[in-house]
Amino acid sequence: MTSKIIDRIRQSRRVPLFIDGAFVDSDTADWIELNNPATQEVIAQVPVATGQEMDRAIGSAKVAFKQWRDVPTVQRVRCLLRYQALLKEHQQEIATVLAEETGKTFADAMGDVWRGIEVVEHGCGMTTHMMGETAENVASNIDTHSYVHPIGVCAGITPFNFPAMIPLWMYPLAVACGNAFVLKPSEQDPLTPTMLAELFVEAGFPSGLLQVIHGDKRQVDAILDHPDIKAISFVGSVPVAQYVYRRGADNLKRVQAMAGAKNHMVVMPDADKERVVSALVGSSCGAAGQRCMAISVAVLVGESTRGWVSDIKTALAGIRPGAPGDENAAYGPLINRKSCDRVREIIAGAAGEGADVLLDGSDCVVEGYPDGNWVGPTLFDNVTTNMRVYQEEIFGPALCLMHVDTLEEAIDLINANPYGNGTSIFTKSGAAARKYQHDTEVGQVGINLPIPVPAPFFSFTGSKNSFFGDLHAYGKQAVRFYTETKTVLSRWPEDDVPDGPDMTINMA
Ligand code: NAD
Repeated sequence: MTSKIIDRIRQSRRVPLFIDGAFVDSDTADWIELNNPATQEVIAQVPVATGQEMDRAIGSAKVAFKQWRDVPTVQRVRCLLRYQALLKEHQQEIATVLAEETGKTFADAMGDVWRGIEVVEHGCGMTTHMMGETAENVASNIDTHSYVHPIGVCAGITPFNFPAMIPLWMYPLAVACGNAFVLKPSEQDPLTPTMLAELFVEAGFPSGLLQVIHGDKRQVDAILDHPDIKAISFVGSVPVAQYVYRRGADNLKRVQAMAGAKNHMVVMPDADKERVVSALVGSSCGAAGQRCMAISVAVLVGESTRGWVSDIKTALAGIRPGAPGDENAAYGPLINRKSCDRVREIIAGAAGEGADVLLDGSDCVVEGYPDGNWVGPTLFDNVTTNMRVYQEEIFGPALCLMHVDTLEEAIDLINANPYGNGTSIFTKSGAAARKYQHDTEVGQVGINLPIPVPAPFFSFTGSKNSFFGDLHAYGKQAVRFYTETKTVLSRWPEDDVPDGPDMTINMA
């Protein structure tokens, strides 16, 4: 199949809203241009939804919730099973559109969709998660049992860098728990979530259960302030995460806000050099470094690892960006011109702050794509904690190298960093790995793995400035986030027992 909604967008050049089960053209006078990051060609215009449209979407979700919350979980899961099958069937098609609007390579775009499908699969086991607890005879003839209930209309606000995976972290689990959902995807890549919504309809979910509205800060504010939104899942940069967390909580909503990162990889002298070099190249430059779990700092421990710097440099110099469709490209362009200019500016300031710029990707050229947001692989050595390249999340294909004498020093350095999304250690020593996983104050730790993103039946447990809230995305914690517990205490005096049950013979 070709996506009907993508065909329609290609003709009208306008992205529709998805309200009350239908794709509708926005009445707004305010449109945001969506550009292809490899060419700057205008793909479509993205509406900044009006206040009325926001109200209509949230109102429709509220109506849908009232019915959906009473649909048995097993029936809800049947819709999710169909959704999972449809997403798998259309994975390539979604990945093609995703690659076009984000600039990701096709293989990476397939991974983006696949990681989302895995969360949907996790949601298909929701029946066993929607269970409470029981205890008999907690006091004389009193039993206690608890139920897990959906909480109502939930909302998701998502970033540009995983337009399939991150929306799929959210609404499939929320609706499996019995909620309705309003999604405000990134205005920088709205086509992928639009396709996800199209398949949601095809999977047979009732109208109104998922709404997709587009816009920017104004629509986020409308979500944060709307009395009918009960819980908000946010993923994005630190300042916006803090803002969403504060304003949402101030309006007495439940909020989980996943934020930015600066992820370190510790390299012990006993590690396998080839594996280290390959892990560093992939995890620093994959997706042009625009991953919240990218390794952006390598901490090389001991004198002997100094000799590895030239190997890292050679390996990084051997990869290059390219446009979607270029099978030899390691990664694509940055998402927009502003990000590209910011990354180039950070690179330009590094030498002045004392870093050794071993590779400078600022002048990167990709033949045939003179207007793309290109940055080549970039490598800084002898980085220190006071430098901008260390303090900011660069979100570009750049790696900082730092040198310390001992594992303890590496751990102190990482624990002093305000972010806590992910970290990893490469070593052959179980004792070093054990010490690292125990002492390091970061929410997700990889041992001989560069990007420790947990499978969806665990949760995504970033910490410190990389996460604001209590309950994390996906896994069992997401079920707790999207539900509330009702506890029932009952007393049934023995002398009330009736004379005998009615007999039933047939299986219902
Ligand atoms: P962003 O914060 O600019 O935008 C995220 C969302 O917030 C978008 O939907 C956007 O429309 C909205 N938004 C932007 N500015 C806003 C404002 N001032 N007020 C209210 N809403 C606003 O993030 P981005 O650039 O799209 O994404 C990249 C960031 O996301 C990086 O920092 C990355 O590390 C982070 N990220 C974190 C995780 C995680 O799980 N921790 C995962 C992916 C991305």
